[in-house]
Amino acid sequence: MDDYLEMVSMNPLSQYTFDDGYTLTYTSDLPDLLNTIRNVELQDVDGFLRIMRLGARIYELSKSTFMSRPPMTPPRNVDISALKNIPLRNAWGNYNKVITSHFKSPYLRQLFNRYPTYVGSSPYYCPATLLIIPYIEFAFNGWYPLGGLYRLVESFLDLARNLEVTLLTNANVELIEHRNKIVQGVRLVDGMRLPADILVANCEAQDVEGMLGARTSGRLKESDRSMSGLVFLVGVKRSLPQLRHHQIYFSADYRKEFDELFHDRHFPTDPTVYVNCPSRNDRSVVPGEGESLFIMANAPANDDDVWDKPMIMEARKRVFDRLYRSGFPQIDDDIEVQDVWTPKRIASGYLMPGGAIYGTHSHGWRHAFFRPPNKDRNYRGLYYVGGSTHPGGGTPTVLLSAKITAELIRKYELE
Ligand SMILES: Cc1cc2nc3c(=O)[nH]c(=O)nc-3n(C[C@H](O)[C@H](O)[C@H](O)COP(=O)(O)OP(=O)(O)OC[C@H]3O[C@@H](n4cnc5c(N)ncnc54)[C@H](O)[C@@H]3O)c2cc1C
Repeated sequence: MDDYLEMVSMNPLSQYTFDDGYTLTYTSDLPDLLNTIRNVELQDVDGFLRIMRLGARIYELSKSTFMSRPPMTPPRNVDISALKNIPLRNAWGNYNKVITSHFKSPYLRQLFNRYPTYVGSSPYYCPATLLIIPYIEFAFNGWYPLGGLYRLVESFLDLARNLEVTLLTNANVELIEHRNKIVQGVRLVDGMRLPADILVANCEAQDVEGMLGARTSGRLKESDRSMSGLVFLVGVKRSLPQLRHHQIYFSADYRKEFDELFHDRHFPTDPTVYVNCPSRNDRSVVPGEGESLFIMANAPANDDDVWDKPMIMEARKRVFDRLYRSGFPQIDDDIEVQDVWTPKRIASGYLMPGGAIYGTHSHGWRHAFFRPPNKDRNYRGLYYVGGSTHPGGGTPTVLLSAKITAELIRKYELE
């Protein structure tokens, strides 16, 4: 990656603002962070260290098993000894319950309960094994690719061009052609046929069944989907020095917010809002004095939500009410450009059911750990990659999935 991307480490990681206006800065610098936690609640220093120890054990176990190997491979002795060392009761319990039993402070409970949203899931329904997320963030820090996250995409393009790969974009695959359970190629929506010996599907894995010609489509059910998001991309013409690169403005009632998202399946009345302002650290992403803002709230991944103008305006009001109530600078008169990504637009732009950003949610250990495998069990030459497959969603995990799939192809097709 070093040849293509310049990564800079983030310090601090994030700024969190709670409903009552209380603000804390989260860093991965241990003395600084312990000081912060001590100031919030002295007793929670011990809880934090125990949570990190648990996250570290889950990470150590996953690193050598779950995250680097295809699923369902027979366990090795080393995996079994790692399993023995995991404090099972805590790791397999409910995420929120484990957080509540380790932290007294409502601020720290809400802060640590946010991590499952990194994979589009609710802290109230997912297993505590997702404590691997705060551990990884703390232990390895946050990193930013100079030029913006899109540099990641551009760097893949550069790499592909250097390897003389032919890229065909805007090519929507309708069918996978096969004979005697051996993949032969694809047919695009416009009728074009592309022959292939090896096919790697990067779409929602459950959609592949339909492409193979199954009569019952395996399309992902709404109740199994991870969250979608509502995003405002805003260019502001003045400088906002009070902002950090990452900030989170929490809702007043986190449980209610997740009930609305997963149970009632509507956009939260009081959403937690994440604001990314890369221009605070990287002036190359904006012209002149202004700032570039990525403002996001979680939204349900529904098929029938219309996301027309009135619906967007109502949701926008809720997002900005939360921001302004939490002390966000007034920007209404300074907005130069604005674009909106709704779940519906995410669904049609990326062909994701309901705009579910991370494919299946991670509620319950089955969903968290048993995603579709990276090699098809029935069709020769068919592989899967991306967020809806093993090991799961989110940019870093998707890149791991690519590595696992590439290794499988090398083993089964090229050796
Ligand atoms: C608003 C938003 C915010 C996010 N924030 C974060 C974050 O902070 N951190 C993080 O780690 N992750 C984040 N993610 C998630 C991350 O972007 C995804 O997990 C990751 O991009 C998934 O990669 P993928 O390769 O599985 O799928 P995608 O990047 O969606 O790629 C799949 C591709 O397959 C194409 N495709 C689908 N069906 C077909 C077909 N039939 N024919 C041809 N092409 C097809 C799609 O057009 C798409 O280009 C965010 C995503 C969104 C939308």
